[in-house]
Amino acid sequence: MKYAELKIQTQREAPNNAQTEGFAFLVRAGYLTRENEILPLGKQAISHIQNLSSDPSFLFHLTLPLLHNKTEIYFSLSTGSTEIVHCSSCNYTERLELAQFEKTPFSQEEQLPIEKVLTPDCNTIESLANFLNIPKEKTAKALMYTRTSDNQFIFVVVRGDMTLSEAKLKNIIGEVRMATAEEITNAGAAAGFASPVGLKNALIVMDDIIPQSPNLAAGANEDGYHLLNTNCGRDYSPEIAADLIQAKAGESCIHCASPLATLPTLNLAARSEFNFENILLALAETHHDEKGLTFPKSAAPFDVYLMHIPGKAVNTVEKAEGIYNALQSAGISVLFDDRDERAGVKFNDADLIGCPIRVTVGEKNLKDGNIEIKERTDKANQLVPIEDATSFIKASILAPNLGTM
Ligand SMILES: [Zn+2]
Repeated sequence: MKYAELKIQTQREAPNNAQTEGFAFLVRAGYLTRENEILPLGKQAISHIQNLSSDPSFLFHLTLPLLHNKTEIYFSLSTGSTEIVHCSSCNYTERLELAQFEKTPFSQEEQLPIEKVLTPDCNTIESLANFLNIPKEKTAKALMYTRTSDNQFIFVVVRGDMTLSEAKLKNIIGEVRMATAEEITNAGAAAGFASPVGLKNALIVMDDIIPQSPNLAAGANEDGYHLLNTNCGRDYSPEIAADLIQAKAGESCIHCASPLATLPTLNLAARSEFNFENILLALAETHHDEKGLTFPKSAAPFDVYLMHIPGKAVNTVEKAEGIYNALQSAGISVLFDDRDERAGVKFNDADLIGCPIRVTVGEKNLKDGNIEIKERTDKANQLVPIEDATSFIKASILAPNLGTM
């Protein structure tokens, strides 16, 4: 393809909204706009990556540092929108909202008699724990939903120091919405002072640590009152007990008990559905140097960046055109910079765009029948006779990638 066909516009400076180097170079090299819209060169790059994806394991051959589980593949990036939990000891990797962790039960204690106490204005876990002077883990938190499929009222119980993962809840019981004030009243509960004790027609779903958490303070289902020492099994019976809690950084790994980390990532693939825009960004983040992008040979939008240096005595563009045709006939993909620009401008653009091999057709070397070939990640260039150019470039493309990470 010719440079003008792709309407490439490179930029001297990184856009001021760029938060990562890879994004900055994709904008500067003309793959994306600063608003993250894909330009023709970006579309070309993505369609190339799409072709690679006929082999579902292709991502693992792109020298990208990946985190993955059985269904999804992630790339760690500060601007990524998919939060995951990762264990660096055993490589356990899961979306934050679905990640499991090892919960620490209380030391066992005897069940104490239930007791109703006046707790004015204590309609949050925070205010209740403060008022009763107990830690938050000695309270039960109530969350009330209605299942959308059958309008079943759902009463969820988690420990006061833990956070419900709605994703886990929905995986167990289906889609839900917040319960209305009327639905809460009809079930016999009181918002802010709710507990599963004495409810009517409620499906009680609780976290699996609750049965091992004796004597929790919970609502009395009456405004201004709570119950001390509620005990699952004695005071109420849940229909479902399951893991409902969202993991946090520092919790213990469910498999090896090492501390878990949470990190933002790009989601590159879910069940063999690839996100090609994210893959392009991950490639740019991993493969660049101070001058621009350094795509690995297999993933670059073009194998070769071909350019001529406008000459005085020799028609260099015509010579370059001949090489362009010969390379394309040999199945090599070429971006031909046939602009009437100074060499320095073209070298800079070639470095920014990041094709693995640069071919320069200039007057001086043509006099000796040579063209100049340089790998993007090498410092040195080589002079190669024109007639050998195609076979030389073919061999370079097939050679292992020595590119920098
Ligand atoms: Zn682990």
